[in-house]
Amino acid sequence: MKLRSFFSAFLLVLAANAQNDEEIIKNIYANSLTKGMSYQWLDHLSNEIGGRLSGSKGAHDAVEYTKAELESIGLDKVWLQPVMVPYWIRGEKETGYFLTNGNRHEMNICALGGSVATPEQGTEGQVIEVHGINEMKDLGAEMIKGKIVFFNRPMEPTLIHTFQAYGGCVDQRYAGAMEAGKLGAKGVIVRSMTLRLDNYPHTGAMTYGDLPVEKRVPSAAISTRDAEALSAALKKDPGLTINFRQRCEKLEDVESFNVIGEITGSEFPNEIIIVGGHLDSWDLGDGSHDDGAGVVQSMEVLRMLKQAGIEPKRTIRVVLFMNEENGLRGGRKYAEVAKSKNEHHIMALESDSGGFTPRGFSFDCSDEEFEQIKSWEPLFKPYLIHYFEKGGSGADIGPLKTEGMVLAGLRPDSQRYFDHHHTSIDTFDAVNKRELELGAATMTSLIYLYDKYGLKNQLQLPIKN
Ligand SMILES: [Zn+2]
Repeated sequence: MKLRSFFSAFLLVLAANAQNDEEIIKNIYANSLTKGMSYQWLDHLSNEIGGRLSGSKGAHDAVEYTKAELESIGLDKVWLQPVMVPYWIRGEKETGYFLTNGNRHEMNICALGGSVATPEQGTEGQVIEVHGINEMKDLGAEMIKGKIVFFNRPMEPTLIHTFQAYGGCVDQRYAGAMEAGKLGAKGVIVRSMTLRLDNYPHTGAMTYGDLPVEKRVPSAAISTRDAEALSAALKKDPGLTINFRQRCEKLEDVESFNVIGEITGSEFPNEIIIVGGHLDSWDLGDGSHDDGAGVVQSMEVLRMLKQAGIEPKRTIRVVLFMNEENGLRGGRKYAEVAKSKNEHHIMALESDSGGFTPRGFSFDCSDEEFEQIKSWEPLFKPYLIHYFEKGGSGADIGPLKTEGMVLAGLRPDSQRYFDHHHTSIDTFDAVNKRELELGAATMTSLIYLYDKYGLKNQLQLPIKN
C-alpha cells in the first residue's frame, strides 16, 4: 500500500471510531437519564440508611447495601476490604450562647469531628476574635490564655471555584484548636465553611496532632449568621462571655470496609482503572451530596458499561472508600493493599464534589498525558461538558498516585455545594435527579474512552472496535 492510501485508510478508521464513540456516548447519556439506577440507589442510602459516619450503624448498613447492589448488577467480582476506622460520636445536641448587656443570644453550633467534649456545664469564658491561625499566633499566649478563640475568616466570595475558597480557610477548622491549645486557650469556635449566611453549623474534621491530652480543647463550628452576630456584639462589648456545651466522645477504633467490585478486563486484565467515591459521611444530614452522590455515580459507571454490552479491555473497578471524612483510612488501605499485591493501576476517577450539574474533570497527570485526554473533549461538547483542566482529583485516590498514573476528579458546578457540605441540610431533597444522572453519564463516558484507547497507545488503532 502506498503511503498516501495507507494514510487515508488510517484517517477513515479514525473517523469511524470517532463516530462510533459519539454513538456510544449518546447511548450512555440516554441510559443514565431514562433507565439509570443512581437516584434510586441514593434514595435508599439517604432515606433508608441515613448518615454514615465511620463506625456507625449507618456506615455498616451502607457497606451491606452497596455490596448487595453491586452483586445484583452481575460484576465479575465483588468483595469487602477490611480497614480499621476511628469511631467518634457526637452525643447530645450541642448548645451555645453569648451574654451581652444582660441579653442571651443562642448560637447554632456543632462539635467538629474528633473534638473533645466540654465539661458537663459547658466551656465558658471571654472571647477573642481572629481571622486566622497566624493572627492568633501574633497575639501570643498572653492574649490567648484562658480565652475562647473565635476564628472568623469567611470564605472568599470572589473565587469562582468555591473549593478554592474552602481551601483558603479550612485550616482554621482543621488545626485551629491544636494551635489555640498550644497557646493555652480554653476552647475554639470556628465560623462555618460556607459562603451563605444561614443558621446551619458545618461540622468537619479537626486534629490535635500530638498535643498532650491536657492541652486538647473543645472545638465547635458556629453558623455564619451567629458568627456575624457574635462579631458585631464583640465590637460593642469586647468583654462579653460565651458558653458552649458538647458531649462528643472518641471511642476505640472499629473494623469497617471498603466495598469493591470489578469487571475484569478482556485483553489487559492487569491494567486497572478505578472509579469511586466515599461511602462514609458526616452524621448531621444523610450525606447525599457528600458523598452519596459519588458512590451511586461510581456504581452506575459499571452498571452502564455492562448494560451497554461494552466489554472493557482493561479491568474496571468501583471502589467505595470508607472513612474519607475523618481519617482517610479507606483510601490509604486501598493503596497499601494495591502496592503489596503489585497491582498496576493506570487511572483513577473520583466523584466527591457533590451531585450537581457536571462541568468536566480535573486531571492530575503529565502535560503529555493531558494533551491526549484533551483530544476527547469534543466528544463531551453536546452534553455541555467543557471543563478539562489540570488540577487535583480526590482525597481517597490520592494515596494511589504513582508515576505515570492519571488521577481525575469529576467537577460539577460548585456554587451550591458549600450550602450543604457537612450540615443537617446535606439531604436527598437537595440532589437533583437529572444533574446526578448527567454526572454518572459523564464519568462513564470518560472511563469508556480511557479503557478503549488507554493513553500512550492512543494514536495506535485499537485492536477491537
Ligand atoms: Zn466528601
